[in-house]
Amino acid sequence: MAARRPNIVFIMSDDHAAHAMSCYGSRINRTPNLDRIAGGGIRLDNCFCTNSICTPSRASILTGTYNHVNRVTTLSTHLDNTLLTFPKLLQQAGYQTAIFGKWHLGQGPEHCPTGFDDWAVVPGQGRYHNPEFFFRGPGGGTKRTVPGYATDVITDLSLDWLKQRDPERPFCLLCHHKAPHRPWYSDEKHAGMYLNEDIPEPETLLDDYQGRAAAAAAAEMRVGVHMTPTDLKCEIPAELPEAELRRWAYQRYIKDYLRVIASVDDNVGRLLDYLRDAGLEEDTMVVYTSDQGFFLGDHGWFDKRFMYEESLRMPFILRYPREVRPGGRNADLVLNVDFPSLFLDVAGVAIPASFQGRSFRSLLSGRTPSDWRQGMYYRYWMNKGQHNVFAHYGIRTLRYKLIYYYADGLEQPGAVADRSEPEWELFDLANDPHELNSVYHDPKHAGIVAELKDELHRLQVEVGDERYVLDVD
Ligand code: CA
Repeated sequence: MAARRPNIVFIMSDDHAAHAMSCYGSRINRTPNLDRIAGGGIRLDNCFCTNSICTPSRASILTGTYNHVNRVTTLSTHLDNTLLTFPKLLQQAGYQTAIFGKWHLGQGPEHCPTGFDDWAVVPGQGRYHNPEFFFRGPGGGTKRTVPGYATDVITDLSLDWLKQRDPERPFCLLCHHKAPHRPWYSDEKHAGMYLNEDIPEPETLLDDYQGRAAAAAAAEMRVGVHMTPTDLKCEIPAELPEAELRRWAYQRYIKDYLRVIASVDDNVGRLLDYLRDAGLEEDTMVVYTSDQGFFLGDHGWFDKRFMYEESLRMPFILRYPREVRPGGRNADLVLNVDFPSLFLDVAGVAIPASFQGRSFRSLLSGRTPSDWRQGMYYRYWMNKGQHNVFAHYGIRTLRYKLIYYYADGLEQPGAVADRSEPEWELFDLANDPHELNSVYHDPKHAGIVAELKDELHRLQVEVGDERYVLDVD
């Protein structure tokens, strides 16, 4: 008899950085239920997004393609829902498929979820309290408000669907939380957490942006300075010097962020409990990730977008007892475009040629192919949109990161046409893990700069992103 095809539970939150998970060694919070996934399976330490912003990362995860291919380059571009996606292929192969929660890839008949037997997704970013959903239906779905807290409601919808499924067929459930995306409204249950304690500050909270290209100082995402009263749930004192403002606002911001994550963790626990009680643990691959990383006061920032580590890195933990031993770690370069190939691989479904990523199934059991990638390609397109982050692309290897701020909107929707002088940065992550000192102009690094530029260009050709010609120097 052929082996039973595994179920897939793909949990994804929004803007949850790996350094706010205790299984990644967080200094600031505990996530006991996420730790159940990591402890019972594997943790990826170098899992990266190819464009650190919500909508584009989600498009890459569904379609297995980079954003210049799926055309979802910015927050203002929406997914063409006729594109090939992994849920469609699983559905065609007999899987029961569903998505509940955050979609953020557009609404209406041309952008609503396709390839799912059932779905209910929040409009746009969605609300934390009493969220509205579009429920599966003609014309892009039917809008209805569901009372409750978003993270609880999304989990309830997921559990209800699991309970009514056909137990004879495998399933793929996408439980995609709105949390912990801005504006970080906690539920009542967790509102009292951290009230009488200070959360440790990141080492780079008071970063002065020296030693880097102009983009870092130009970014408008400094904690306190570029936050709103809604973000901080109070008026922002006008008289504080910036260093004090950052330290004060960090405490308010990070506590709300962590309260919201505590609810995510509880609700992941509810899903895990269901799988255990239903006898589904052995045959189910459970994944937890986030659409990108996030700055938790690192470099004095909130938000993401930059190719810097805290924003680039995605948490990725996976439990699949049938195939993956507990307590594993892997530090190979894995990308969001790889996720759908993994899901199809474990389901025994052929990976289509249009998918640009690669299944990392063998990495999960400690076998890294000799030709696994040694560098990854990144591109942020949304030039100077919200938060004024300059458009850039770059390459990260296990040791180095080369970034090119081309700072041009290139007529992308949502990107600003205003250009700035292009600039490069090079970081040696072994000597400068916080990326505080670009060594691009250091003559000692001329050789590695030349090597990385060649490799960057080779990657652009490989993924088919050659429309913007590299400047020299
Ligand atoms: Ca996001």
